[in-house]
Amino acid sequence: MARVDLDVPFSEKDEAKALGARWDPQAKVWYIPEGKESAPFARWLPQQGDANLANEPEFKIRSLWYFLIESSSHCWKCGNRTRVHAFMLPEDHEQFEYAEEDEAFTLASPSGYWMRQGEIGTVSNVYGLSPKVLAQLRCHTTRYRPAYSQQAGATYYMNHCEHCGAKLGDFYMHSEPGGAFFPMSAADASKMILRKVDAPFEANGSVGYASENFVECMQRKDDQ
Ligand SMILES: [Zn+2]
Repeated sequence: MARVDLDVPFSEKDEAKALGARWDPQAKVWYIPEGKESAPFARWLPQQGDANLANEPEFKIRSLWYFLIESSSHCWKCGNRTRVHAFMLPEDHEQFEYAEEDEAFTLASPSGYWMRQGEIGTVSNVYGLSPKVLAQLRCHTTRYRPAYSQQAGATYYMNHCEHCGAKLGDFYMHSEPGGAFFPMSAADASKMILRKVDAPFEANGSVGYASENFVECMQRKDDQ
């Protein structure tokens, strides 16, 4: 399989690079190295001439506001506890759903529609963040940044240990009961800190929903 060339604006080159894109100095073009997942680079893939693609939003998860969650996790490498971060979305957040072929005719946007989720969700495996959300995140941490996960076979925004720099993958923290973002009791939740950010959230990734989220037990330290 040949490499895939990307259409990366100059202002986004650092982001493309962080996700693993390479620069071809001869052709003066960024590209996805052979064998690498193309999904994280979707926003820079050249247009296929498909009308549906042109109507697709850059980010598939959106919300009018959000919480930045701070929790703590055990580092598998150095054994210390380290602060870790994630995003939590209110019930009104929406995800872009792709239309079935027969529905597409009746929709304003033929590729799909926004759907309100109706539940509080936690975002994981983030492979795209709007520049505004990223800037807000950087006020609190530089240790949540793109890294390659062997387990997921992809690059996504991942926490890193504040003591030794080890990568701390999302799976353990989001999907294992008792993980940093999967509280099992009010006591677990009371160690987590929520910071409300009164600005739109836009990202690509997965949203997880818990049967019991203990949100009311978490500490609140809202940004001004
Ligand atoms: Zn560590």
